[in-house]
Formats: sequence, structure tokens, C-alpha cells
Amino acid sequence: NRTLLIAGNWKMNNDVAEAAKLADELAQALPEVPAGVEVLVCPPTIDITTVHDRIQAAPIALGAQNVYWEAKGAFTGESSCDMLKSAGCTYCIIGHSERRDYFHETDEDQNKKAKALVAAGLVPVFCCGESLEVREAGTYVEHVVNQVKAGLEGLEITCPKQVVVAYEPIWAIGTGKTATAEDAQEVCGAIRETLKEMFGEELANGIRVLYGGSAKPGNIAELVAKPDVDGALVGGASLKAADFASMVVKA
Ligand code: 13P
Repeated sequence: NRTLLIAGNWKMNNDVAEAAKLADELAQALPEVPAGVEVLVCPPTIDITTVHDRIQAAPIALGAQNVYWEAKGAFTGESSCDMLKSAGCTYCIIGHSERRDYFHETDEDQNKKAKALVAAGLVPVFCCGESLEVREAGTYVEHVVNQVKAGLEGLEITCPKQVVVAYEPIWAIGTGKTATAEDAQEVCGAIRETLKEMFGEELANGIRVLYGGSAKPGNIAELVAKPDVDGALVGGASLKAADFASMVVKA
């Protein structure tokens, strides 16, 4: 009975004109969404205001792909929680493996971001997931559980909708290699058990745990049919309005 969340992560794609076009197409393709499904798009920071204007009337929420935890000041290149909020965001992706790998972000950074977002009334979409090496070593559940514990430690929430977790095995991102629905369930289930230890059974039962990694129209139904998979964080397939809209309908 958790509301599913189908979230698009545009990553570093679409200039302002392209973002406006895709946002218009999405608003047109999704004048309404099925009951029990929520839709979110996360464009590059530079496109947020444009996308906000275009999707305002549609049942599509807006999120950022990154945030800095300080309120303001000399932090060149960064955006604060309040800035994202003022631009119309209600969600923000944090801890994506691309940020961890290419920009050397740590679990501690994610924890500061998560706390700042929740304090500002924004919902962190906290990403976690193992590399192929860790998968093959067989220690992936432990690896992901540790990321969740470190990233969300001490987070003060009173409602399950205040945080979202996204399990994204790195070996399945952009590779066309989707984890099987069983693989996704195994780790999403372990994440929920961890959330129960951290936040208590009641909150944990309401927190959305998404799967990400080559999610597409052809596999979304099978993924969300699993008991602990509450939607998807979608990269490539979120860049085509028809594909993304069809995932919303099929979920
Ligand atoms: P793909 O859907 O392109 O594999 O990307 C997944 C992802 O990283 C979403 O955050």
C-alpha cells in the first residue's frame, strides 16, 4: 500500500531548450497519473526553473540531482536546500554512484546532505549500490546495508514520505544489464530490514525503496511486483517522454 514512485534522473543531459521540450512532452503525456503512483523528474540544476514552469500544472514532482548542506556563502558552484526549494523542488537525489565515484563524495557527505534536506522539508532520494567487484565477491548486501546506515544515521523523520532510498547496483547502470527482479528484491528487502532497525517498523514499512539500473518499460512491472520494490529511479529511459510515461502507466 505504499505509493509507487517513478523517478527520472536526467543526469547531465538536456540544455535549457531541450529540457523545455521534454518537460512539455511529459506534461502532455501525463495529464494524470494512475492512482497509487507518483512521478518525479530530476533535471540538471540549470534546467530546474524551466522544467518547473512547464510541469507546474501536471501531476509531476520536481527534484534536483545534488545539493550542498550549508545555507549560503562562499561555496562556488553549489546550491543550497532553500535555493532548490525556491525553484520548486520537493525532492533531491543524493549519493548517486556517479557522484561518489567521479566527485569523491563520501558516506559522511551524504549524511550531511540528507539531514540538511529533511530539515529544509525536502525529500532526499538516497542512492546506494555495489560495484561489480563487490557483487562478485558476494558481500553486496552488507555493502549496501552499511551505506544506508552511514548515509541515513541520525536522520530525524516522523513520516515515511520524508525519505526515499534507491538501490542502484553500479553494474546495472547504463549497461542494459538490469538486475533481475529477484536480485532487486533481495537487496531492497535487506534495506527495509535496516530501515526497521534504524527508524522502527512503522516508519520503515512506509518508506519507498526504489530500484535503479536499466529500468525500462519492458521490466518495470516485474520489478514493482516485488514486495519491497516501490518504484524505480530511471536514467536513460527517462530522457524519452513516451518511454517514461509508459513506465508510469505500466508500474
Ligand atoms: P540507467 O537507467 O540509464 O541505467 O541509469 C540508472 C541511474 O543511474 C538512475 O539514477
